Order: sequence, then structure tokens, then C-alpha cells
Amino acid sequence: MEFSEEFQFEDEAARSWYERMVRQVQGHAPACLRGFQSKMILPSDLVWDDRTYWEIACSCGSKTGQIIGYSLRYLKSDYEGPLTFVTPLGFQCSSCSLNIEIIDTDLHGYDGECKARFGGYGAATYRGSGKRSVFSCHECGDSQLTVIPCFQYSHFDIIEDEPELESVAQDFFDWFDCEVKCLSCGHSQSAGDYELA
Ligand SMILES: [Zn+2]
Ligand SMILES: [Zn+2]
Repeated sequence: MEFSEEFQFEDEAARSWYERMVRQVQGHAPACLRGFQSKMILPSDLVWDDRTYWEIACSCGSKTGQIIGYSLRYLKSDYEGPLTFVTPLGFQCSSCSLNIEIIDTDLHGYDGECKARFGGYGAATYRGSGKRSVFSCHECGDSQLTVIPCFQYSHFDIIEDEPELESVAQDFFDWFDCEVKCLSCGHSQSAGDYELA
């Protein structure tokens, strides 16, 4: 893995420590994806851009399903952007109908982890409850999709302060994006993204 020029390391030790953190988050899918078969997608230029992308499949092997969650429009009346979902976000497999949870912003990501481990307030994002609806493609309205969850790690400061967290560094992502690709029209889009730190 290469680093772009914006990465400045104090010395070789700092650089190799950072490389170890990157290997950790690239080698281990965050715990919220535990219901899936997950495979990390390496950036083609091999340059670390502080994100990991995962190809996910149901335990039956199918990569196609629907995203279920809560439309932000119903929770925030002044929201006028494209259809976007808030959590808890799930994946409903097209092949075997299994429902697998993807993320809950109350539990997952930097703020959720800190709340569970050290106390605190958790993430300040909208979150739904009750019956969920099905996400539909911004372009064609269809709902059969493949899903590529994206996790951002802007820094690893907390791991530096709390070295015992190194083995779970992948759970301290500070931003999440649910990238989806429509099966009907091929359009790639975000079903929802959340600031989690
Ligand atoms: Zn399945
Ligand atoms: Zn479409």
C-alpha cells in the first residue's frame, strides 16, 4: 500500500505503525458486517485513500438484494435531496430472503464504539424505528442491488491512545457510505452516508 503526499510521517517508526493500522482495517471487515461474506476491494492504484470498500454477499452466496431502512424524508421534513436512508439498515437477500443487518449508527462506528466502551452520547445522526421500507434506484426505481459498504478512517488517534484497541481498529470508522449498484440500469449511487465521529 502506498501513501499519497498529504501523509507526513515523523519517522520510519510512525510510518510503519500507520501501515500496520491500514493492514488491520484492510484485513478485517468491521464487526457490523459479520452476517455477510465480505471481501475487501483493493484500490486499483494501491494508494491508501483512508477508506475501505467491501464486496458483500449473503451466507447463501448471493450478492443481490434489497436495502431496507428508513427514508430521511419522513424523519426530517425539510430534507429535499435524493432518496436517502438512515439506519438501522438491512440487506434482504434476493435468493434466500434472509435479512442481514448492515449497520446501526447507534451501535457502529467511532461514536457508537466509544459510547459502548467509554460512555458518551453516540452518533448525532437521524435514526428510524418501526417498519422499514425498501430503497429504490434514483435512476429507474428498481430495488434489486449489489451493495458495497464503504468505511472511512480519517486517523487512528484513538488506537494510538488505547493500543489494546488495535485488534478492533476496523470498528472505529468515522464515516460510512452504503454504496449500491442497481441491477436493472447499472447506476451506482449512495443509499445513505453517515458522519460517525
Ligand atoms: Zn441469501
Ligand atoms: Zn436503476
